[in-house]
Amino acid sequence: MAKIKTIGVLTSGGDAPGMNAALRAVTRAAIFNGFNVKGIYRGYRGLVENEIVDFRAQDVSNIIHRGGTILRTARCDEFKTQEGRQKAYENMCQQGIDALVVIGGDGTLTGAREFATEHDVPIVGIPGTIDNDLYGTDHTIGYDTALNTIMWCVDRIRDTANSHERLFFIEVMGHNAGFLALNGAIAGGAEAAIIPEISIEKDQLAQLIEHGFRTTKKSSIVLVAESPITGGAMGLADRVRNEYPQYDVRVTILGHLQRGGSPTAQDRILASRMGAAAIDALVEGQRNVMIGDDDEKMVYVPFNKAIKNEKPIDRHLLDTLSHLAI
Ligand code: ATP
Repeated sequence: MAKIKTIGVLTSGGDAPGMNAALRAVTRAAIFNGFNVKGIYRGYRGLVENEIVDFRAQDVSNIIHRGGTILRTARCDEFKTQEGRQKAYENMCQQGIDALVVIGGDGTLTGAREFATEHDVPIVGIPGTIDNDLYGTDHTIGYDTALNTIMWCVDRIRDTANSHERLFFIEVMGHNAGFLALNGAIAGGAEAAIIPEISIEKDQLAQLIEHGFRTTKKSSIVLVAESPITGGAMGLADRVRNEYPQYDVRVTILGHLQRGGSPTAQDRILASRMGAAAIDALVEGQRNVMIGDDDEKMVYVPFNKAIKNEKPIDRHLLDTLSHLAI
């Protein structure tokens, strides 16, 4: 393998709080280790369209606390084609980039894997997504901040839910995973979480109604993971109105506000550690691996393993949630 001199870094897919902290860490750790760094704008689109700039240590000053990503992000369909990836490779070579660090979710890592099978480029991935749905890492960058935002929102909705004695469905993000809904429900003291991992097995709404909402409280809050499998908060509310008209039901969809805001300390620390670990990985000659957080230790997870496996939900948490909602 040729010696790496210049590392390109990009953020791709959905933005997540903490991506800037990861960019800072990758840039500074790379420069500390004697590499040059180039920032690639708008994810793979910037690689295909050659939107690439030099990054110095001071270019990532004052960003650790900022949400979003200073490099911007995008979804790039052209990169899904072989021609698009060829163009990206040519731009990379022309810019003198020898290795890549990509920060994003499942799709971003899939793109990196495709790119690496066609071109001889060492790539290291950093899991940046609020969904926490990547196998091989306990946490992804942005998840903790989004979870705290959800908790903050649930606390506020609880006030109105109580005053009006209503059943509230609060829809949260998560792609096809229930981590945000389940842990958001526990943190917010909600009654239940309706998540795809369980909805696929049984009708969670029917079960919830059958068991009866808690009798010790006047209102109920249920967190719902956005997903065609759960039916979403709107779908569930429609069902309640048709099948259980005795309930006064309301819906709140938290939407994109879950992606914003200053990252929590936990996300900043995770992003800093993962950014530094990505450069360590390249120094050690690793390629095509994602940095994972395994019980507080930084580990290397092959792309294939991270992408192909489904990250399981901890089912004990469902018991905890229901036992505490009596
Ligand atoms: P999030 O989890 O927040 O949605 P993500 O990284 O999964 O983030 P995607 O939109 O799925 O977001 O993927 C980001 C980009 O990765 C895509 O726009 C595309 O450029 C690239 N990509 C995704 N899948 C592939 C693929 N099969 N082949 C090549 N590139 C891909």
